[in-house]
Amino acid sequence: MSDQSERNPGFLVIVSGPSGVGKSTLVNRLLPRIGAELSISKTTRSLRPGDVDGQHYHFVSVESFQDSVAEDDFLEHAAVHGNHYGTPRRFVTEHLAAGRCVVLEIDVNGAAQVKQLMPEAFGIFILAPDEQTLLDRLRSRAQDDEDVIRRRFNQAKEEIHAAQTSNVYAGFVTNDDLDRALEELVGLVEAERARRVAE
Ligand code: 5GP
Repeated sequence: MSDQSERNPGFLVIVSGPSGVGKSTLVNRLLPRIGAELSISKTTRSLRPGDVDGQHYHFVSVESFQDSVAEDDFLEHAAVHGNHYGTPRRFVTEHLAAGRCVVLEIDVNGAAQVKQLMPEAFGIFILAPDEQTLLDRLRSRAQDDEDVIRRRFNQAKEEIHAAQTSNVYAGFVTNDDLDRALEELVGLVEAERARRVAE
């Protein structure tokens, strides 16, 4: 008899992409379209204006984060821009076992860890139309100084290269226009779901 949790009747979608590419907006609009739930990560970074604890992240101390690591509470965890981020394991495994669709919005390192544990995870990487647009978007967020912006820009280029040379992502979506990119994203997810049902 097959084990429910191993058979994993749910559908796990990973969305990654560099800072400033508009992935959170896309993901928030994707969720109702595909009937999915977002996994809320834990992070040690400080709250930014507009962040809501428990909604965007669970904001925790470094000590608390380390306790979760020690207790093996994370499906994956990684350091991004000097802060720690982790995906609570239980939320994901319980929802997948119940046949739900779960979306993880995580970086390339975390995505590689998840893909190794759950090869059936469906990864999508969001790209900016070109480097200048990415740089402009990082600048327009106006919450960082120019040094930080440059560092983020170089990290973004490395992240894109890592994504393109990994086997984690089944699709790359260019966010040139939000509505168009959303339709492409929904189309990729729905096509993959239909393919799996037909298998
Ligand atoms: P921000 O702090 O700007 O919201 O996110 C910074 C980066 O961390 C983004 O690339 C985001 O996708 C990534 N991230 C958010 N949550 C997690 C997580 O749980 N695990 C990993 N590996 N990356 C995460």
